[in-house]
Amino acid sequence: MPIEKNELTKSVHAGLTTEKTTGAVIAPIFQTSTFEQISPGETKGFDYSRGGNPTRGLLEEALAKLEEAKFGLAFSSGLAAEQAIIQILDKDSHIIVSDDVYGGTGRLFRQIYEKYGLSFDFVDMSNIENIKNKINNKTKMIWIETPTNPTLKLVDIKESCKLAKNSDITVVVDNTFCSPVFQSPLSLGADIVVHSTTKYIGGHSDLIGGAIMTSNEKVYERLSFVQKAVGAVPSPIECFLTLRSIKTLALRMGQHEKNAFNVAKYLTEQKKIKNVIYPGLESHPQYDLAKKQMKGFSGIISFTWNGPYEELVKFTQSLELIILAESLGGVESLINHPEKMTHGSVPKGLREKLGIDEKLLRLSVGIENSDDIIKDLDKAIKLSSLS
Ligand SMILES: *Cc1c(COP(=O)(O)O)cnc(C)c1O
Repeated sequence: MPIEKNELTKSVHAGLTTEKTTGAVIAPIFQTSTFEQISPGETKGFDYSRGGNPTRGLLEEALAKLEEAKFGLAFSSGLAAEQAIIQILDKDSHIIVSDDVYGGTGRLFRQIYEKYGLSFDFVDMSNIENIKNKINNKTKMIWIETPTNPTLKLVDIKESCKLAKNSDITVVVDNTFCSPVFQSPLSLGADIVVHSTTKYIGGHSDLIGGAIMTSNEKVYERLSFVQKAVGAVPSPIECFLTLRSIKTLALRMGQHEKNAFNVAKYLTEQKKIKNVIYPGLESHPQYDLAKKQMKGFSGIISFTWNGPYEELVKFTQSLELIILAESLGGVESLINHPEKMTHGSVPKGLREKLGIDEKLLRLSVGIENSDDIIKDLDKAIKLSSLS
């Protein structure tokens, strides 16, 4: 019987996949496109790196372990992983999607895949009835993102999966915001988990990558075929960097969460800030679901500036530690203006409905000392107040 392992141990050992031929403890970078064959068609396990590469193979094993899935697949970006999932569908399929998915996900579905005869319904999934009402005989997929980005609404994964039971509807969960440390969609009934490994799993803002985990063999085979046939695969160096990052994932997530909690509490007490949204605050409308479904509340906070837009701009420019930049999940704190930055591609009407306006900011709390982050925010708030 293997010993029961804590999250910290699991992360360290998921990333440590000893290489079989040499025993190298750290995954070597197999920077090669092709592999020598023994006789025509008889390989030593690999033939061409689009189809498979040993460094990528080790990463894929590690990714599977993180989500306690049977299979893992690595892609060149989060969106490349997403398009592979869509490409396992037949034409005319109908997909129900969270209405405030990551901006790039919405753009991929609306501006690329609608052209190919797929249809998408974007609904507010914080109310499960909205999903139920849209299911028809062409529905083949329910695409959940929870917490959503940037408004941090939650979707009940277990209840959503019940709607798909005894049907051929595949449930996909974008688990980027929680990382495998804080949420386990497969154990709640989901068929596929997708990550932008660019974010928490990569964690150092130095790579772009995507991952898919599943325990369904048929789904894996279809995805694996798309991965090879379409070829949106990561380079061996990117795979190596991701493996290196995985070892500290649980350690980083713990610090992200602790910091975010302190920062969220601080923000709720500021006159210049209103509507602090963080799943770990009791004021979050779905706090009970957050406690039930998530093992931790992660490190993203959204909030509204209480004052003119010019002040908000000054605030973002007055920050010393916190960097104004897109992306999230890195060790350093980043602040983002969704309307002008990450969510520019969301149709204006929908943006307004979701509350993504010029006063909204999203903070990805890093792993610095939380008192220092708070000092930085405090200084910037003081410097930016025009009144
Ligand atoms: C960033 C992100 C993506 C897209 O991933 P890329 O690596 O940028 O292609 C998808 N979903 C979520 C929730 C994200 O934050």
